[in-house]
Amino acid sequence: MNESELKIRNSASVPPEKCVFCQIVARKLPAAIVCEDQDYIAFMDRAPFNEGHTLVCPKRHGETVWDMTAAEIGGLFALAAKISKGVIRATASDGFRFVQNNGEAANQAVAHVHVHIIPVKLAEKGQWMDRKNATPEQLQRMASCIREALEP
Ligand SMILES: [Zn+2]
Repeated sequence: MNESELKIRNSASVPPEKCVFCQIVARKLPAAIVCEDQDYIAFMDRAPFNEGHTLVCPKRHGETVWDMTAAEIGGLFALAAKISKGVIRATASDGFRFVQNNGEAANQAVAHVHVHIIPVKLAEKGQWMDRKNATPEQLQRMASCIREALEP
């Protein structure tokens, strides 16, 4: 199959001006931001699977990893690995999951590339997790705890 013909169905697909994550990048929507640089931004998932559940995104809009260059994919995961240490310290967790969904079939709810960092504790090993409610204040507090726990 020609690579240009390969498409991933995504019901959440929207133009960048209507994209929730692009609006967070542009500060048109609120989020509990952990950190950002020129190319990437990290903020708290507003319905976390566990306390400390963080999302890392490229600022440039693209729906799936297929829309990113190899260097962008490398930068995204390198930053997620760095932030995961802050997440683990801030939540006193024992491990973490990276989850990166591409397309409707994979439950990608926001069609802008992102990596989930989900901290887990040994006591939860093997358990399925449900999304939890968190207040904006709880998310802001956790974002600042993770930021303080990041290595410089
Ligand atoms: Zn976007």
